[in-house]
Amino acid sequence: MNFKREALVIKKSVERSEFVVDMHVHTSVSSPCSFIDPERLITRARSIGLDAVCVTDHDGIEGAQIAFELGKKVEYPVFRGMEVYTELGDMLVFGVYDNALSWMTTFDEVIKFCHKNGAIAVPAHISKTKVTLDEEGRKKMDEYVLRRVKALETYNGGSTPEENRHALELARKYSLASIGGSDAHHEFQIGRCVTVFKVSIQSERELIEAVKLGLCRGEYGSFFLNMP
Ligand SMILES: [Zn+2]
Ligand SMILES: [Zn+2]
Repeated sequence: MNFKREALVIKKSVERSEFVVDMHVHTSVSSPCSFIDPERLITRARSIGLDAVCVTDHDGIEGAQIAFELGKKVEYPVFRGMEVYTELGDMLVFGVYDNALSWMTTFDEVIKFCHKNGAIAVPAHISKTKVTLDEEGRKKMDEYVLRRVKALETYNGGSTPEENRHALELARKYSLASIGGSDAHHEFQIGRCVTVFKVSIQSERELIEAVKLGLCRGEYGSFFLNMP
């Protein structure tokens, strides 16, 4: 008997009292760089034990919408979001249900949209974004962007552990809620990073409120899921 594996399974079942969501997944419908179709996304998410997923395609809601409708049919919670390119990096936006935020919406416009519509913007993979900015942009990222958001993606599946650690330090420094997402573009990447909620999430509104209240944290998915 593999005791180590058994201990891990017990640990996972204890942790299952929490609600585990992958908040950053791309589908092939609106993200041409992704190979995941909505149906396979749901099948995979369910099989590894995710309680829900958020579809955050690049600048388009269609993939999220299709997965959302499909989720309703097969009784699996899918929440809609979008990853919006801005001049200050990619923002995961939750609370957007159409293509109101298009290619290269400015950061200020995203924040304005969020205030007006009760949405929330969360900077994605901030360490990777910083590499693309000049010194002035990097300074603006900390002193401007992080003072205008409520949460930061601290566990991003496409980032290195060092990059995620840097994001976590920033979240602590600026007292931000922490979320995690796989940034999956391939099926096997789903769940590699997750957001662990202290409460059960039944709707997109509850998801937004729970993040705003900081009732969540980013984590590596392998501690919580049945990843092969
Ligand atoms: Zn991105
Ligand atoms: Zn992404």
